[in-house]
Amino acid sequence: MNARASRLLEQLSAEGVRAALVTKEENIRYFTGYTGEGCLLILPEKQVILTDFRYVEQVSRQALDCECVRTRAGVTPEGAVASLLQEAGLTKLAYEPYKMTVEEFQGWQAALPGVEFVSLANKPEVLRQIKDRGEIDSICRSAKIACDALAKLMGYIRPGMTEKEIATELDYYMLKLGSEGNAFSTIAAAGPNGSLPHAVPSDRPVQKGELLTLDFGAKVNGYCSDMTRTIAIGKVSDELRAIYDAVLEAQLRALAYVKPGVNCKDVDAVARDYLEPLYPGAFGHSLGHGVGLFIHEGPGFSTRSEAVLKPGHVVTVEPGVYIPGLGGVRIEDMVLVTEDGYINPVTAPKELIKID
Ligand code: ZN
Ligand code: ZN
Repeated sequence: MNARASRLLEQLSAEGVRAALVTKEENIRYFTGYTGEGCLLILPEKQVILTDFRYVEQVSRQALDCECVRTRAGVTPEGAVASLLQEAGLTKLAYEPYKMTVEEFQGWQAALPGVEFVSLANKPEVLRQIKDRGEIDSICRSAKIACDALAKLMGYIRPGMTEKEIATELDYYMLKLGSEGNAFSTIAAAGPNGSLPHAVPSDRPVQKGELLTLDFGAKVNGYCSDMTRTIAIGKVSDELRAIYDAVLEAQLRALAYVKPGVNCKDVDAVARDYLEPLYPGAFGHSLGHGVGLFIHEGPGFSTRSEAVLKPGHVVTVEPGVYIPGLGGVRIEDMVLVTEDGYINPVTAPKELIKID
């Protein structure tokens, strides 16, 4: 039994629950190291991964402290879990309600008639919010790959290239530099497309006088990085330049406010209160989100957040201004909160870079 799984069971014990069924990919990985298909049953004495023939060897390589039950005709995951619970004398099972379809849940219920199902709620996600040294190291390595890829990309971008070409090249550099894959689909949005915070790279060529927003991340040991830089293609108008300077100032103010013990919503407010009078309504998303095995996790910097920053939290700081017809600017770093402040592993320059 590893420490992460024990912590989960410890939390569940208050509700009289001593068994948890984990079905969400990132959570299975967090508790075991295993990245294949299947599900995980956490019991007081052991952890069992239930999967089919294709992944049995993978379990033995990745999840050394787990047992493996091979499912096959006649041995369904539901049936195997039922026997394991019976052996352990347990009649309550925690499960992840937001990761199971209604049909799947009904299947589990039908196969385990004497078992009471209790929600795991977001307990695994809350545990995952506090990153340990190994997780921080993976996130830092992932951020470095993204920064190095951007530095290489600067020598590649020319006016006339399409957003798609630029995004594809950036993805290629990240993979060459050791990324396991994209943390999410890379965003490359220039000119008027820049006002779409989640624009999909298009066949539109980038042109002189436009801003180009690049939002992207790498992955190391499953851990994501996330960063955004907005660069100038040729000389941009004073209006665009002013937007850039305002977004950068908002980001620097928010970063300066970050330390353990502050309310996450107050960090959001620092950036929002600065941008709102200058560009009313133009910063419509939250300031940042947690990053880890999943690209969007808790805690977040938003107007609604009730969270308080703690050492081990990893959160993005990404203010933006989006003006339809004109374009947009976003600048995004990540803060890895420490005992007395934070580390920012996104070291790419933030002064407006100009590509001619
Ligand atoms: Zn991003
Ligand atoms: Zn982000």
